[in-house]
Amino acid sequence: MKEDKKTLERMLEGDLPWEQLKLIIGSQKDPNRFDMIIEILQEQVKWKEKILLPLHEHLYIVVKDGARIVKCDCGFEFGDYKINWKTKCRVRVRDTVEAIEELYHKDMGSDPKWEELREYFCPGCITLLDVEAVPPGYPTIFNFLPDIDTFYEKWLGQKAPDR
Ligand SMILES: [Zn+2]
Repeated sequence: MKEDKKTLERMLEGDLPWEQLKLIIGSQKDPNRFDMIIEILQEQVKWKEKILLPLHEHLYIVVKDGARIVKCDCGFEFGDYKINWKTKCRVRVRDTVEAIEELYHKDMGSDPKWEELREYFCPGCITLLDVEAVPPGYPTIFNFLPDIDTFYEKWLGQKAPDR
């Protein structure tokens, strides 16, 4: 399958979650296609740091001063990509019936005795990045820790950019 940049651009319109993007990238080992995706994403953000991988809706792993950090498309920096970006978020916990019913219809909502909703917001742009529905006291979930070097070397046959 041959794609030009325009087609990829259309595929990427809006924010593709990494899980979906991985499928697009992985359906064919094609470094050019990956480069093109990165190029398109890079054009969409306002900052200059090199994108290594899209991580999550609105979030990217970028290189900054030789370090790999998580950055929001608004520019907010979450720091080292190996540390769960959610720990830097503003969090709203919905653990009462009233708070849960703001989101869900009365009988659709969960019971706060066994489940709470945690909403994670970017501190920079207050975009809702993720929602966890977990038992109260459950540790913050680390969604995804990519092996960047293996991905670049095994899938793309190139070294991950270090600047
Ligand atoms: Zn943001």
